[in-house]
Amino acid sequence: MRRWVGWSAKGLVWLAVMSRTDADAASDRGVDLALVQQALRQGRKTPFLLLDLERVRAQARRFKAAIPRLEPHYAVKANPHPAVLAVLIEEGVGFEIASVAELDLLLGLGVAPEGVFYSNPIKSRESLQYAARAGVQWYVLDSLDELRKIVAVVPKAKLYLRIETPNTGAEWPLTGKFGATPDECRDIVEEAARLHADLAGVTFHVGSQCRNLENWAIGIANAKRIFGMMDEARFVPRLLDLGGGYPVHHLKPVPEIEAIGESVTAALAGLPEDLRVIAEPGRFLVSDAGVLVSRVVGTAMRRGRRWVYLDAGVFHGLMETVEGFRYALHTERSGRGVPSTLAGPTCDSLDVMMQEAMLPEDLQEGDYVFIASAGAYSTAYATRFNGFPMPEVVLAAR
Ligand SMILES: *Cc1c(COP(=O)(O)O)cnc(C)c1O
Repeated sequence: MRRWVGWSAKGLVWLAVMSRTDADAASDRGVDLALVQQALRQGRKTPFLLLDLERVRAQARRFKAAIPRLEPHYAVKANPHPAVLAVLIEEGVGFEIASVAELDLLLGLGVAPEGVFYSNPIKSRESLQYAARAGVQWYVLDSLDELRKIVAVVPKAKLYLRIETPNTGAEWPLTGKFGATPDECRDIVEEAARLHADLAGVTFHVGSQCRNLENWAIGIANAKRIFGMMDEARFVPRLLDLGGGYPVHHLKPVPEIEAIGESVTAALAGLPEDLRVIAEPGRFLVSDAGVLVSRVVGTAMRRGRRWVYLDAGVFHGLMETVEGFRYALHTERSGRGVPSTLAGPTCDSLDVMMQEAMLPEDLQEGDYVFIASAGAYSTAYATRFNGFPMPEVVLAAR
């Protein structure tokens, strides 16, 4: 029997001690444990991220089936591994980039630049020149300054305006840093008209790991208002980009993609048939495809509390934990759960992944700890801080 360890939002409870059948059902969500064991038998050294590309493929298909009108464009930053990108190319998924380095990665794999969306709201002049020369056509903006910069460097750019939208219920809210307010949108639309720019569409981002089903419909309603402003300035909207944020299962309940699909489809009703509607899923396509395999390098009792130190930490793949994000963990021990602080291997005080993690009392130095659904924003965030290696990405043998 395997033991899955988890936490409620308040911590301190076993989510489940599962029988084999339950564990099999749970592993439906993520990487098959048999694939993990196979990688370990082959002598893989921890830490490593085991990626199951068939999971990536399945998620891409599920996304398309759930929201047929949406063209998915994968947010490369979530996991830029070339094998992930190659599977998504096979599945007919497009791409969204944050930088020209990501563009180069895509071009190297034969992706057509016309289909790439440059969705980082702030781009350096050099990056704009580079992308334009490479053939990228679509550029996002959310400020007057960025509008003027893009138009100066790429006069023919197809522009889409990132608008502010509520991020309530998202684990990683993005409002504040990006997104123009309605007043700012009005100024941008007017200035775009004055500059004879090709303002072609609207985008928003509901926040990453968005657990609130309403946010997409609210975003679409807000986008419709900005389309109205564009109409008044004689622009003809041709693009609606629903951004990312589609959530995956960790420990808290999340809406299923099919439910989001129904809500989005209803909200899109009434928009012109020829309006192109795209989305930029990152996490949704890759999270469940990865399990981060780590080992306990040491344990300690400190003021009566138990600490468990792994060979992978905040700087080595688990950066998302710094704002309280909690992963489901799995070990091969079956002892009673005791509240433990889970920390990484570095000397940095920031390198603590979870407080009050209920880890088996018999968990020891040398044991494996499997971090479930870690395919997104893990290795992409990893460093070599303190001289520890970054987790290697290992492709599951199928
Ligand atoms: C990061 C990002 C995404 C992907 O977000 P997920 O929450 O991983 O789906 C999509 N679009 C933009 C502009 C982003 O910055």
